Amino acid sequence: MNTILDALASNDRGWTERAACADLGTTRFFPSESESSVAAIVVCEQCPVSSQCLGYALAHRIVDGVWGGTTKRERVRMLRMRPKQPAA
Ligand code: SF4
Repeated sequence: MNTILDALASNDRGWTERAACADLGTTRFFPSESESSVAAIVVCEQCPVSSQCLGYALAHRIVDGVWGGTTKRERVRMLRMRPKQPAA
């Protein structure tokens, strides 16, 4: 896995071409429990597709890593408030 984009699934990914992290490694976006997420969030704050990124992570119930400028803890909280979608 070379970039954050490589971590994405193969569904509709057109928005990923405009991602601020397109040429960055994944390390800062997947910090360990003892590491800060700030380095990733700073990049996300400048990203033109942060809402799509967050939507993707929520739709796929991805809790690990920083997506759309949100941390694992923040997305877990969001997902608890969001009902699961029935399988298609
Ligand atoms: S919001 Fe952050 S993780 Fe998502 S595509 Fe943009 S820079 Fe990458």
